[in-house]
Amino acid sequence: MNERAPGVQPDESDESSLPIEFLKKYFLEQGNEGIEQISLLNASEVPLRFQNQLRVLNDERVYALTVAVVPDVLWEKNQPSESSAENNVVLVKQEYWKGNDEINWLSHELAHCLRYLNDPKVYQQDSEEPAFVDIQGDTYPNNKVEEYAFSRQFESLIA
Ligand SMILES: [Zn+2]
Repeated sequence: MNERAPGVQPDESDESSLPIEFLKKYFLEQGNEGIEQISLLNASEVPLRFQNQLRVLNDERVYALTVAVVPDVLWEKNQPSESSAENNVVLVKQEYWKGNDEINWLSHELAHCLRYLNDPKVYQQDSEEPAFVDIQGDTYPNNKVEEYAFSRQFESLIA
């Protein structure tokens, strides 16, 4: 018996399909309905109120990244945003996206993606490397990758 072909069949070698493939897996439990409620936009298309954050990152590669606006019902995290750097995508809770992002979380998440693009291997290593050796405990968020993302976020806050 033939199974119904899925609607989207991206070429796996195509980098642009990474965010979609990732989101499908990430929201697998919520099924197709879940994924269909997510709005995807190219970072170059973000509303005007966010554009300064992209500009401050001062890296043209940022405009090719994907922002996924996730409906509140699908959102399970406490924080309003997260990144999947290896999949070139930033996820933002819809409720938060409607606001002004006064803490500039968008720049933080995009910085993760840019850092990954610089060198995936180093990114992985740095995510396990404590940023502050005198602080005990988990390497999240005390790691070199978070240190970088928070410093870029801070830069955009004072810009
Ligand atoms: Zn982070």
